Amino acid sequence: MDRTRKQFAVIGLGRFGTSVAITLQSLGHEVLAVDADEERVRKLSDSVTHVVQANTTDENSLNALGLRNFDAVVVAIGEDVQANVATTLLLKEMGIPFIIAKAKNALHGKMLEKIGADRVVYPERDMGQRVAHSLISSNVLDYIELSPNLSLVEVTAPGLFVGRTLQQTNMRALYGVNVVAIKRYDTLIVPPEPDEIIQDCDILIVIGSSEGVQRLEVLG
Ligand code: ADP
Repeated sequence: MDRTRKQFAVIGLGRFGTSVAITLQSLGHEVLAVDADEERVRKLSDSVTHVVQANTTDENSLNALGLRNFDAVVVAIGEDVQANVATTLLLKEMGIPFIIAKAKNALHGKMLEKIGADRVVYPERDMGQRVAHSLISSNVLDYIELSPNLSLVEVTAPGLFVGRTLQQTNMRALYGVNVVAIKRYDTLIVPPEPDEIIQDCDILIVIGSSEGVQRLEVLG
């Protein structure tokens, strides 16, 4: 048996769930995609091997899916918070080893954490933040908030750093951020040495306090 091939289930086949299911399958894993809506199930049956129609808030229907030995289940039910929470709770009671649940907002996320979801994701919030940060400055290529006060950002090297070594930029002291990697054309310099000279074409991958990262984002 191929041990790297894992078994995942995705419940709720909206835009987010569909994307998760198709990506997992394209990465070579076995995916069971589930939705209560017949039309959604029919639509996805061309792209995902196993698609089943079931209302997962119904304990018997959920049990019939035989998810007990799956590696992880993603609860991607969107609008219907009650169905999302109920499904997560039932999965938790079934002893699923890893549950990822999508939350609509912070309160919903708190409920999911209390129930015991192993990971709570906020796709709309996260994508909104990424778009907003890329609009603040044309230097920002990507932005990920790792925790409320820790961010990872990908920025084109600010002009005032070009020609200086990492050490000379004094970024750690001035902004409280660390450059974890430098993308230079097709190469990734990771980790960069303190005497690495920043070039015009460089893209810096930086981690640090959200405040420090924001100050770096707006540098010209
Ligand atoms: P997105 O915002 O990612 O597009 P949606 O809210 O549009 O997500 O989609 C959520 C999906 O979850 C819908 O296809 C809906 O039919 C499905 N869904 C809602 N409730 C249940 C349930 N109780 N059991 C299974 N699927 C459900």
